[in-house]
Amino acid sequence: MKSEITKVLVVITVFYAIRFFVLWTQNVNNNLSIKVLDVGQGDAILINSGNSGSMLIDGGDNWDVDWYLSKQFVFPRCNINALVVTHPHADHLYGINRILKRCKPNLVTFNDVYYSSKLSEVFLENIQHLSSDKKITNFNFAHLKSGDTFYFGKVKFIVLWPDETFLKNATYLNNINDISTVLLLDAGKFEALFTGDLSGEIFSKIDKELYKKHIDGDLEILKVPHHGSADGRNIDFYRSLSPRYCVISVGLDNRYRHPDKRQVEDLEQVGCKVVRTDISGTIEFNISGVL
Ligand SMILES: [Zn+2]
Repeated sequence: MKSEITKVLVVITVFYAIRFFVLWTQNVNNNLSIKVLDVGQGDAILINSGNSGSMLIDGGDNWDVDWYLSKQFVFPRCNINALVVTHPHADHLYGINRILKRCKPNLVTFNDVYYSSKLSEVFLENIQHLSSDKKITNFNFAHLKSGDTFYFGKVKFIVLWPDETFLKNATYLNNINDISTVLLLDAGKFEALFTGDLSGEIFSKIDKELYKKHIDGDLEILKVPHHGSADGRNIDFYRSLSPRYCVISVGLDNRYRHPDKRQVEDLEQVGCKVVRTDISGTIEFNISGVL
C-alpha cells in the first residue's frame, strides 16, 4: 500500500515539474500577448505584457475565463493584475464577478453609471468588499473617461471613450452599450483597439486626434464592437484606422445571428482580415520586440 502511495506521489511530482517547466518557458519573455478568449457569445480579452502580469478586458457570460486562467498556472490559482469592465451587460460582466471573488486584482476599472441588474449589484458589492477589506492593501478602482492614459507594464493605454459630457447625460441613455470603455493599446509601432459593444454612430463622436497621433501607419488589431452586430457599423471610422486583423468575439449559432454579414463585408472592404472565435476558438496574437 505504502509503495502505491509513493508511486502516486512520484507521478504527481513529475506531472507538476513538467507543467511548471512548460509554463515557465512560456512566461519568461518580453513579448506582448493578446488572447481573445473563446467564451461563446460575449467578450473576454487577456493581455500579457512581458513579465508585468495579466490584464483582463471583460469576463464573458459564464465561468470559462476562470477555467481558462486556472489552466495557466502550475497550481490552480488566479493572477489577474488589472480588470477592465467595458460596460455592465451580462455577456461582459458575469465572469468578472467570479474572477473578483477568486483573484486579487490590483486595479478594476468600470463606468460610473447606474445600471439596474442583479449582476451589477453583485459586482458593486464585490468592489465595496475589496475596497473596505483592511487585509487587502493594494486594491484600487477607477472610472475611465476619454483622454485618460495609464500604463500596464511598458504598454500604454489611451482611453478613447466615453467622454465626460456624454457620461454626464448617461442617466437618460437608451443603450448602455454606448458607454463602453474604448481602449487603444500602444506599444511602440504596434497598436490594438478594444471597443466593447459601442454603437457605430458613437465612433464618429470620438476625438480623432486622440487616436491618430498614437497609431503608426495601420492599426494592427481591431476588436470589432458588439460581436459583429450591424449596429457597430461605421465604415468611415474603420477606414480611418486601416485595421489589419479584425477580431469578432461571438458564439457559435448565437440567437442574435451575430456577426452581421454587412459588418463583415465593411471590414473586408477596408482591407481587414476578419477572424472569429466561433470559427477559430481562442484567437491569440504574440507580438515580439515591442516591449
Ligand atoms: Zn456584448
